Amino acid sequence: MAIGMGGNEGNLRRAFRLARQRLFPLLRNPKMSPIYRTSPVGGPPQPDFLNAVVVGTTSLTAHALLTLLRKSEIAAGRKPGGPKNGPRPLDLDLLLYGSRRVATPRLQVPHPRMTSRLFVLVPLADVAPRRVVPGTGKTVSRFLEEARRRSTENVRRARASF
Ligand code: AMP
Repeated sequence: MAIGMGGNEGNLRRAFRLARQRLFPLLRNPKMSPIYRTSPVGGPPQPDFLNAVVVGTTSLTAHALLTLLRKSEIAAGRKPGGPKNGPRPLDLDLLLYGSRRVATPRLQVPHPRMTSRLFVLVPLADVAPRRVVPGTGKTVSRFLEEARRRSTENVRRARASF
């Protein structure tokens, strides 16, 4: 599975460390991408984000993983409400869950917006370039090439490594 991590408010080192500490023990062969600094997409004017991706395998169900992600966001200080796409200390999205597709009101996997967002595709391609996105027949690196042609998003390697 693959999890997208992002944040742009408060102590990001602490938030990313917390996410890592909570996720890694539940994964086999966990791997984290480098961290990128990215300009916000949509929402109100706000600071740049840091983004990364974690991949690994797990025996947790997709819904159990989502619950864990929500709890980790709250532990990092995220408050419910606030403007849509506004600043947040930690955002965790379940991007991929093996070759499975999930479409429930609470959970959609693959994450519906992952194939167009450079802030997801760039770090994901570092750790899982040849992964096929279920239901599309296309690999992560293919989506990255396509998104690079269209997107004006600014995604660059951060000096931070947590
Ligand atoms: P966000 O503001 O990005 O954290 O969105 C959280 C909402 O998206 C929650 O209500 C989740 O139930 C829902 N959601 C649907 N699919 C996913 C997914 N693949 N990963 C994370 N959240 C999801």
